[in-house]
Amino acid sequence: MRLRREMAEKEDFLRAVSHDLGAPLRNILGIANMIERKFGNELTDEVRDRLRRISKNAQQELELIAELLELSRIKTRRQQFEPVDIKQLLQQIQDNFSYALEEHNIQLVLQNNYPVIIAEKNRIKQVFQNLIDNAIKYIGERADPRIEIGYANFNGMHKFWVKDNGRGIRKEDQQTIFHVFRRVKDPKIATIPGKGVGLTTVKSIIETYNGEIWVESELGQGSTFYFTLDKMTVQDAA
Ligand code: ADP
Repeated sequence: MRLRREMAEKEDFLRAVSHDLGAPLRNILGIANMIERKFGNELTDEVRDRLRRISKNAQQELELIAELLELSRIKTRRQQFEPVDIKQLLQQIQDNFSYALEEHNIQLVLQNNYPVIIAEKNRIKQVFQNLIDNAIKYIGERADPRIEIGYANFNGMHKFWVKDNGRGIRKEDQQTIFHVFRRVKDPKIATIPGKGVGLTTVKSIIETYNGEIWVESELGQGSTFYFTLDKMTVQDAA
Protein backbone atom coordinates (compact mmCIF):
# COMPACT_ATOMS: atom_id res chain seq x y z
CA MET A 1 0.00 0.00 0.00
CA ARG A 2 2.74 2.41 1.05
CA LEU A 3 4.79 1.43 -1.99
CA ARG A 4 1.85 2.08 -4.25
CA ARG A 5 1.34 5.51 -2.68
CA GLU A 6 5.02 6.34 -3.08
CA MET A 7 4.96 5.27 -6.70
CA ALA A 8 1.85 7.38 -7.34
CA GLU A 9 3.58 10.35 -5.69
CA LYS A 10 6.64 9.84 -7.85
CA GLU A 11 4.45 9.74 -10.92
CA ASP A 12 2.67 12.95 -9.87
CA PHE A 13 6.00 14.61 -9.28
CA LEU A 14 7.40 13.55 -12.64
CA ARG A 15 4.24 14.62 -14.44
CA ALA A 16 4.34 18.03 -12.77
CA VAL A 17 8.05 18.53 -13.49
CA SER A 18 7.75 17.43 -17.09
CA HIS A 19 4.76 19.69 -17.60
CA ASP A 20 6.66 22.65 -16.13
CA LEU A 21 9.73 21.88 -18.24
CA GLY A 22 7.76 21.06 -21.36
CA ALA A 23 5.71 24.26 -21.57
CA PRO A 24 8.64 26.72 -21.85
CA LEU A 25 10.47 24.33 -24.18
CA ARG A 26 7.48 24.17 -26.51
CA ASN A 27 7.44 27.96 -26.37
CA ILE A 28 11.13 28.19 -27.31
CA LEU A 29 10.53 25.78 -30.17
CA GLY A 30 7.53 27.77 -31.37
CA ILE A 31 9.41 31.08 -31.28
CA ALA A 32 12.47 29.68 -33.08
CA ASN A 33 10.27 28.18 -35.81
CA MET A 34 8.29 31.41 -36.12
CA ILE A 35 11.46 33.52 -36.53
CA GLU A 36 12.71 31.18 -39.22
CA ARG A 37 9.39 31.22 -41.05
CA LYS A 38 8.81 34.95 -40.80
CA PHE A 39 12.30 36.37 -41.15
CA GLY A 40 14.04 33.46 -42.88
CA ASN A 41 14.88 35.51 -45.98
CA GLU A 42 16.50 38.32 -44.01
CA LEU A 43 18.72 36.08 -41.89
CA THR A 44 22.32 35.18 -42.61
CA ASP A 45 23.18 31.49 -42.98
CA GLU A 46 24.92 31.60 -39.62
CA VAL A 47 21.85 32.91 -37.77
CA ARG A 48 19.60 30.42 -39.55
CA ASP A 49 21.94 27.61 -38.60
CA ARG A 50 21.89 28.68 -34.94
CA LEU A 51 18.11 28.90 -34.96
CA ARG A 52 17.95 25.33 -36.25
CA ARG A 53 20.25 24.24 -33.47
CA ILE A 54 17.93 25.86 -30.92
CA SER A 55 14.98 23.97 -32.43
CA LYS A 56 16.88 20.70 -32.52
CA ASN A 57 17.95 20.98 -28.89
CA ALA A 58 14.47 21.94 -27.69
CA GLN A 59 13.04 19.02 -29.67
CA GLN A 60 15.52 16.59 -28.10
CA GLU A 61 14.67 17.79 -24.60
CA LEU A 62 10.96 17.38 -25.30
CA GLU A 63 11.58 13.81 -26.44
CA LEU A 64 13.58 13.13 -23.28
CA ILE A 65 10.75 14.47 -21.11
CA ALA A 66 8.26 12.24 -22.94
CA GLU A 67 10.54 9.22 -22.40
CA LEU A 68 10.95 9.96 -18.69
CA LEU A 69 7.23 10.39 -18.28
CA GLU A 70 6.64 7.04 -19.98
CA LEU A 71 9.30 5.45 -17.76
CA SER A 72 7.49 6.73 -14.66
CA ARG A 73 4.25 5.11 -15.85
CA ILE A 74 5.49 1.60 -16.61
CA LYS A 75 4.79 0.26 -13.14
CA THR A 76 1.76 2.34 -12.22
CA ARG A 77 -0.13 2.23 -15.50
CA ARG A 78 -0.37 -1.27 -16.82
CA GLN A 79 -1.77 -1.59 -20.33
CA GLN A 80 -4.22 -4.03 -21.79
CA PHE A 81 -3.02 -7.66 -21.91
CA GLU A 82 -3.43 -9.36 -25.29
CA PRO A 83 -1.84 -12.21 -27.26
CA VAL A 84 1.59 -11.19 -28.51
CA ASP A 85 3.08 -13.37 -31.22
CA ILE A 86 6.79 -12.76 -30.63
CA LYS A 87 7.82 -13.95 -34.10
CA GLN A 88 5.41 -11.52 -35.73
CA LEU A 89 6.53 -8.74 -33.41
CA LEU A 90 10.20 -9.33 -34.24
CA GLN A 91 9.48 -9.36 -37.97
CA GLN A 92 7.70 -6.05 -37.57
CA ILE A 93 10.67 -4.57 -35.69
CA GLN A 94 13.05 -5.97 -38.31
CA ASP A 95 10.98 -4.18 -40.92
CA ASN A 96 11.09 -0.91 -38.99
CA PHE A 97 14.87 -1.13 -38.68
CA SER A 98 15.44 -2.33 -42.25
CA TYR A 99 17.06 0.92 -43.31
CA ALA A 100 19.58 1.00 -40.43
CA LEU A 101 20.29 -2.73 -40.85
CA GLU A 102 21.01 -2.34 -44.55
CA GLU A 103 23.03 0.80 -44.03
CA HIS A 104 25.41 -1.03 -41.69
CA ASN A 105 25.20 -4.28 -43.59
CA ILE A 106 23.96 -6.07 -40.46
CA GLN A 107 22.47 -9.54 -40.60
CA LEU A 108 19.55 -9.89 -38.16
CA VAL A 109 18.96 -13.55 -37.40
CA LEU A 110 15.59 -14.72 -36.05
CA GLN A 111 14.71 -18.21 -34.82
CA ASN A 112 11.61 -20.33 -35.36
CA ASN A 113 10.74 -21.22 -31.79
CA TYR A 114 9.34 -18.01 -30.29
CA PRO A 115 6.24 -18.29 -28.11
CA VAL A 116 2.95 -16.42 -28.17
CA ILE A 117 2.50 -14.71 -24.79
CA ILE A 118 -0.32 -12.77 -23.15
CA ALA A 119 1.13 -9.39 -22.27
CA GLU A 120 1.18 -5.64 -22.94
CA LYS A 121 2.07 -5.59 -26.61
CA ASN A 122 3.60 -2.12 -26.78
CA ARG A 123 5.73 -2.61 -23.71
CA ILE A 124 7.09 -5.96 -24.95
CA LYS A 125 7.75 -4.33 -28.29
CA GLN A 126 9.62 -1.53 -26.54
CA VAL A 127 11.90 -4.08 -24.83
CA PHE A 128 13.00 -5.72 -28.08
CA GLN A 129 13.10 -2.43 -29.93
CA ASN A 130 15.45 -0.78 -27.41
CA LEU A 131 17.76 -3.80 -27.25
CA ILE A 132 17.92 -4.18 -31.04
CA ASP A 133 18.36 -0.43 -31.49
CA ASN A 134 21.34 -0.55 -29.09
CA ALA A 135 22.81 -3.60 -30.84
CA ILE A 136 22.70 -1.64 -34.11
CA LYS A 137 23.99 1.63 -32.60
CA TYR A 138 26.95 0.03 -30.82
CA ILE A 139 27.90 -2.52 -33.47
CA GLY A 140 31.11 -0.59 -34.27
CA GLU A 141 33.23 -1.33 -37.30
CA ARG A 142 33.47 -4.92 -38.39
CA ALA A 143 33.33 -7.02 -41.52
CA ASP A 144 30.46 -9.35 -40.55
CA PRO A 145 28.06 -7.47 -38.25
CA ARG A 146 25.40 -9.79 -36.91
CA ILE A 147 22.55 -9.65 -34.39
CA GLU A 148 20.75 -12.76 -33.20
CA ILE A 149 17.52 -12.98 -31.20
CA GLY A 150 17.35 -16.17 -29.19
CA TYR A 151 14.74 -17.92 -27.10
CA ALA A 152 14.67 -20.81 -24.66
CA ASN A 153 12.29 -22.30 -22.13
CA PHE A 154 13.96 -21.86 -18.78
CA ASN A 155 12.70 -22.99 -15.34
CA GLY A 156 9.19 -21.60 -15.59
CA MET A 157 10.53 -18.57 -17.37
CA HIS A 158 10.61 -17.43 -20.98
CA LYS A 159 14.22 -16.54 -21.62
CA PHE A 160 15.20 -14.31 -24.54
CA TRP A 161 18.51 -12.87 -25.63
CA VAL A 162 19.74 -10.25 -28.07
CA LYS A 163 23.29 -11.08 -29.10
CA ASP A 164 25.54 -8.83 -31.13
CA ASN A 165 29.15 -9.03 -32.23
CA GLY A 166 29.68 -5.31 -31.74
CA ARG A 167 31.99 -3.16 -29.63
CA GLY A 168 31.21 -4.86 -26.29
CA ILE A 169 31.06 -3.48 -22.75
CA ARG A 170 33.77 -3.49 -20.07
CA LYS A 171 33.08 -5.48 -16.86
CA GLU A 172 33.00 -2.32 -14.72
CA ASP A 173 30.24 -0.80 -16.87
CA GLN A 174 28.00 -3.87 -17.08
CA GLN A 175 25.87 -2.93 -14.04
CA THR A 176 25.74 0.86 -14.30
CA ILE A 177 24.37 0.91 -17.86
CA PHE A 178 20.98 -0.16 -16.43
CA HIS A 179 20.79 3.05 -14.34
CA VAL A 180 18.99 6.04 -15.77
CA PHE A 181 21.19 8.56 -17.68
CA ARG A 182 24.23 6.29 -17.47
CA ARG A 183 26.21 5.74 -20.63
CA VAL A 184 29.63 4.17 -21.01
CA LYS A 185 32.24 6.90 -20.65
CA ASP A 186 34.14 6.67 -23.89
CA PRO A 187 34.80 9.37 -26.48
CA LYS A 188 33.53 7.00 -29.20
CA ILE A 189 30.23 6.42 -27.38
CA ALA A 190 29.80 10.17 -26.82
CA THR A 191 29.52 10.70 -30.60
CA ILE A 192 26.65 8.17 -30.86
CA PRO A 193 23.25 9.76 -30.09
CA GLY A 194 21.63 8.48 -26.90
CA LYS A 195 20.27 9.66 -23.58
CA GLY A 196 20.88 6.71 -21.28
CA VAL A 197 17.18 5.98 -20.71
CA GLY A 198 16.68 2.95 -23.00
CA LEU A 199 18.00 0.15 -20.77
CA THR A 200 16.34 1.59 -17.65
CA THR A 201 13.04 1.46 -19.51
CA VAL A 202 13.69 -2.14 -20.59
CA LYS A 203 14.59 -3.18 -17.03
CA SER A 204 11.51 -1.51 -15.57
CA ILE A 205 9.21 -3.31 -18.05
CA ILE A 206 10.85 -6.68 -17.41
CA GLU A 207 10.44 -6.20 -13.65
CA THR A 208 6.68 -5.87 -14.09
CA TYR A 209 6.80 -9.46 -15.42
CA ASN A 210 8.89 -10.65 -12.44
CA GLY A 211 11.79 -11.01 -14.82
CA GLU A 212 15.46 -10.13 -14.76
CA ILE A 213 17.88 -8.65 -17.25
CA TRP A 214 21.64 -9.05 -17.41
CA VAL A 215 24.44 -8.73 -19.91
CA GLU A 216 27.40 -10.90 -20.80
CA SER A 217 30.00 -9.08 -22.78
CA GLU A 218 33.64 -8.69 -23.64
CA LEU A 219 35.17 -5.55 -25.01
CA GLY A 220 35.71 -5.83 -28.75
CA GLN A 221 33.85 -9.17 -28.97
CA GLY A 222 30.19 -8.23 -28.61
CA SER A 223 27.41 -8.30 -26.03
CA THR A 224 24.50 -10.57 -25.19
CA PHE A 225 21.58 -9.08 -23.28
CA TYR A 226 19.51 -11.80 -21.62
CA PHE A 227 16.10 -11.30 -20.05
CA THR A 228 13.42 -13.48 -18.53
CA LEU A 229 9.64 -13.16 -18.20
CA ASP A 230 7.89 -15.19 -15.54
CA LYS A 231 5.49 -17.52 -17.38
CA MET A 232 2.85 -17.01 -14.68
CA THR A 233 2.69 -13.31 -15.62
CA VAL A 234 2.33 -13.80 -19.38
CA GLN A 235 -0.38 -16.36 -19.84
CA ASP A 236 -4.13 -16.60 -19.63
CA ALA A 237 -5.36 -16.91 -16.06
CA ALA A 238 -7.69 -19.70 -17.25
P1 ADP B 1 21.63 5.08 -24.77
O1 ADP B 1 21.81 4.06 -25.84
O2 ADP B 1 20.59 6.10 -25.10
O3 ADP B 1 22.91 5.70 -24.32
P2 ADP B 1 20.83 2.89 -23.00
O4 ADP B 1 20.26 2.99 -21.62
O5 ADP B 1 20.02 2.16 -24.02
O6 ADP B 1 21.06 4.39 -23.44
O7 ADP B 1 22.27 2.24 -22.92
C1 ADP B 1 23.19 2.68 -21.91
C2 ADP B 1 24.64 2.47 -22.37
O8 ADP B 1 24.94 1.08 -22.45
C3 ADP B 1 24.92 2.99 -23.78
O9 ADP B 1 25.22 4.37 -23.76
C4 ADP B 1 26.12 2.15 -24.19
O10 ADP B 1 27.31 2.72 -23.66
C5 ADP B 1 25.87 0.81 -23.49
N1 ADP B 1 25.25 -0.20 -24.39
C6 ADP B 1 23.94 -0.55 -24.46
N2 ADP B 1 23.74 -1.53 -25.35
C7 ADP B 1 24.95 -1.84 -25.86
C8 ADP B 1 25.42 -2.82 -26.82
N3 ADP B 1 24.59 -3.67 -27.44
N4 ADP B 1 26.76 -2.83 -27.09
C9 ADP B 1 27.62 -2.01 -26.45
N5 ADP B 1 27.24 -1.07 -25.54
C10 ADP B 1 25.94 -0.99 -25.23
